[in-house]
Amino acid sequence: MFNSAKPLFDYIVRNITAYSPKETKAIAFMLLEHYLRLRNVDVLVDKPIASTESQPDWEHIVARLNQSEPIQHIIGSAFFCGLEFKVSPSVLIPRPETEELVRLIVKDCFWDENPVKIVDIGTGSGCIAIALDRFMSFAKVWGWDVSDDALVIAQENAHRLLSEVVFEKYDILEQDTFEGQFDCVVSNPPYVTYSEQTSMQPNVLRFEPHLALFVEDQDPLLFYRAIADFCLKHLKLTGACYVEINEQFGDTTKNLFLQKGFKKVEIIQDMHGKDRILKAKLSEEGL
Ligand code: GLN
Repeated sequence: MFNSAKPLFDYIVRNITAYSPKETKAIAFMLLEHYLRLRNVDVLVDKPIASTESQPDWEHIVARLNQSEPIQHIIGSAFFCGLEFKVSPSVLIPRPETEELVRLIVKDCFWDENPVKIVDIGTGSGCIAIALDRFMSFAKVWGWDVSDDALVIAQENAHRLLSEVVFEKYDILEQDTFEGQFDCVVSNPPYVTYSEQTSMQPNVLRFEPHLALFVEDQDPLLFYRAIADFCLKHLKLTGACYVEINEQFGDTTKNLFLQKGFKKVEIIQDMHGKDRILKAKLSEEGL
């Protein structure tokens, strides 16, 4: 056990070998904050740790990290749009790129419907749906997923974050029997092709759900086709569809939406300058 912040921080940094020095420091700060509510400045001033404070088995935690287990799985949560979400191996760990998707929708927000009806297809932890619900008080949001385990996590997140998103089981690849119309359809579907596995980090490949990540190389746009078809029936003419995309398929995904009959299709780049978001509208009007 450690008596103060600095030796503990140094121990963690010295013993994590699976990450770069910068990532290692970020992880060490996350651990100190999560288990002992210690902040960066507490490390600088070497704040004492009370002997009554219970400490986890640091050696075990470092060993798990060195086996490439994501820090978010160890502490059980991840921040997304300033909100803390529970995560597990059944859901994708929310990514900063996906925060940009949420931000874009909140910024656009051109609907004057009340309530604005939004559906998030393949909701996973519920992070997109819950963030939209929290930031757009006039929205009524649904989150759909095919995975029962993901829906349990999403429901728990809604409960913790005082959100009224309705989570339901729905398979976008099954025959469409749904009745209803939305102002906004959003999705971060599986879009990584199996052949990209070779360039992926072990923490993603070994610990995150393949159901949420991968598509067959022969049909990388499978989910976008299903989402576009869903929109043709259930997206209002005044509405918009926002999807996260694989940067390799920006143009092909755009062409798919145009071929399906969408009138206005835009690709938006992420903070790394990569094609990451597609926004599509069924009519030329508006934003
Ligand atoms: N962007 C994620 C990754 O790099 C993939 C997300 C997805 O498939 N929807 O792992």
